[in-house]
Amino acid sequence: MKASQFFISTLKDAPAEASLPSHKLMLRAGLIKANASGLYTWMPMGLRVLRKVENIVREEMNRAGSVELLMPVIQPAELWQESGRWEFYGKELLRIKDRKDADFCFSPTCEELITDIVRKEINSYKQLPKNFYHINTKFRDEIRPRFGVMRAREFVMKDAYSFHADFASLTQTYQAMYDAYCRVFNRLGLKYRPVAADTGSIGGTGSHEFQVLAESGEDVIAYSDSSDYAANVELAQTLPLSGSRAEPTQTLTKVHTPNVKTIQQLVEFLNIPVESTLKSIVVESENEGELVLLLLRGDHELNEIKAEKLAGVKSPLTMAQPEQILAQFGANGGSLGPVGFKGKVYADFATEKGTDWVIGANEDDFHHTGFHFGRDAAEPEFVDLRNVIEGDPSPCGSGSLKLARGIEVGHVFQLRDKYAKAMNATFLDNNGKAQIMEMGCYGIGITRVVAAAIEQNHDEKGIIWTEAMSPFTVVIVPMNYKKSDDVKNAADQIYADLLAAGVDVLLDDRDERAGVLLNDSELLGIPHRIAVGDRALKEGNVEYAHRRDGVSENVALSEIVAKIK
Ligand code: ATP
Ligand code: MG
Ligand code: MG
Ligand code: MG
Repeated sequence: MKASQFFISTLKDAPAEASLPSHKLMLRAGLIKANASGLYTWMPMGLRVLRKVENIVREEMNRAGSVELLMPVIQPAELWQESGRWEFYGKELLRIKDRKDADFCFSPTCEELITDIVRKEINSYKQLPKNFYHINTKFRDEIRPRFGVMRAREFVMKDAYSFHADFASLTQTYQAMYDAYCRVFNRLGLKYRPVAADTGSIGGTGSHEFQVLAESGEDVIAYSDSSDYAANVELAQTLPLSGSRAEPTQTLTKVHTPNVKTIQQLVEFLNIPVESTLKSIVVESENEGELVLLLLRGDHELNEIKAEKLAGVKSPLTMAQPEQILAQFGANGGSLGPVGFKGKVYADFATEKGTDWVIGANEDDFHHTGFHFGRDAAEPEFVDLRNVIEGDPSPCGSGSLKLARGIEVGHVFQLRDKYAKAMNATFLDNNGKAQIMEMGCYGIGITRVVAAAIEQNHDEKGIIWTEAMSPFTVVIVPMNYKKSDDVKNAADQIYADLLAAGVDVLLDDRDERAGVLLNDSELLGIPHRIAVGDRALKEGNVEYAHRRDGVSENVALSEIVAKIK
């Protein structure tokens, strides 16, 4: 590619709104242009990087047995209503109406859409397992879009969804996806860490985030210096202690409840009146040292249970994630864990004073009870990872904790039957019996990966790409291309030879001063630079520099192509 035919638009200074190095550099290097809050155009230079990331992801997904398709970004409300997320997703879900006044949303993720396809296409165990993915635009109306494409509103995600006849098959594919993610991030040359959240009694092998390690990351990871233990502190924090929440009017229930096995049993055990509006239940398991906050909507027919936040744990092995708890409990209550539940329960509900149940009653008509989060002094402290400092003993019991900041670039999850159950995605097993499918989902933030890579790889001069991600592998910087025939001839020859050798090369033939071209080559972060000038040419040389060490060396004109190939 010749720069004169391409489009390079670099800036000397970053616009004031950018604070993060990657955001500044992406704007300065002309990779992206801001159009509105959280909305960006990928300019030609940036798009080349994006496509390289996409292709690596695509290759590794294909290698791991996932099949590509392409689902629409505009999706009908009906599917989202079926799963319950039309209401639950809140304001992050951008809703739109068509000309007939029908409701749609702009897809933030695709569980519903793919489950709808699969329930129509797959009806036998013989067709399972299947793993589909696509790479497409997503929209999330983030409260605080920031850091450029790092937390945008419109962004590109690779999302994959796998369907299985049984849990064993799900765990196999989950592992295959986990391995594929490691290959992707290795190939991209990123320093990253998979962060596991084991689910203890909730079941399954759980969920992992892939965190690119960077000072500017929004997430904090706590990990043991002598074991594999690593957790996003977000997932591992305890529930806020009294004071952080509105003070309850009274403590309703604090009981030991051996062997309550279902949500329904739990409600019965708590003696919560059928007519009450149950807002939440906190389960603090004695056996497992585990805290789960379940939020319930509407009356406690329990048709909308959401485990909102997993709380702190004595042992990291009992951590779980909200979706997983939800998947485990299902929409209508389900198992509280394979061994039942033993521990304490705190419930928060409102009931109407009298006996007549009035829908839409005024707040004043309700008697509120609350739960409290305080603990008896005798009870052991839960580990609140938000407050740990380096050197604290690891909750896993092995070694001490280290802390690191991370950028979540990928997330794999065992959904189990969450969507398949709500949307009735069944198959016939080998006995001809209908069964609900097991499901997993796997995301990579393609656009975020680009920003994350820059956070990890830059200096005061600009970006430092790995070859795998760089918009070009080599840049030829001719000094005086327009005026010196020798320079022009040598640069053109190297360019032609590199092209012929299949190297992704940029010839910067813009009519700019050498200083400008050299600075731009550093800002753009292209790994190999060949500077062609009259002085070195007189000796039969060109100047070669690698972006990472920046040291220039003379290389014979006749050897430069071989050096790069
Ligand atoms: P975050 O915690 O950063 O909000 P998330 O957990 O909501 O991310 P997931 O639902 O797990 O995101 O989506 C899969 C991947 O999509 C994330 O791991 C991340 O890389 C990417 N992603 C999510 N939200 C954004 C966003 N607003 N801008 C860019 N990429 C995003
Ligand atoms: Mg989010
Ligand atoms: Mg997250
Ligand atoms: Mg996530």
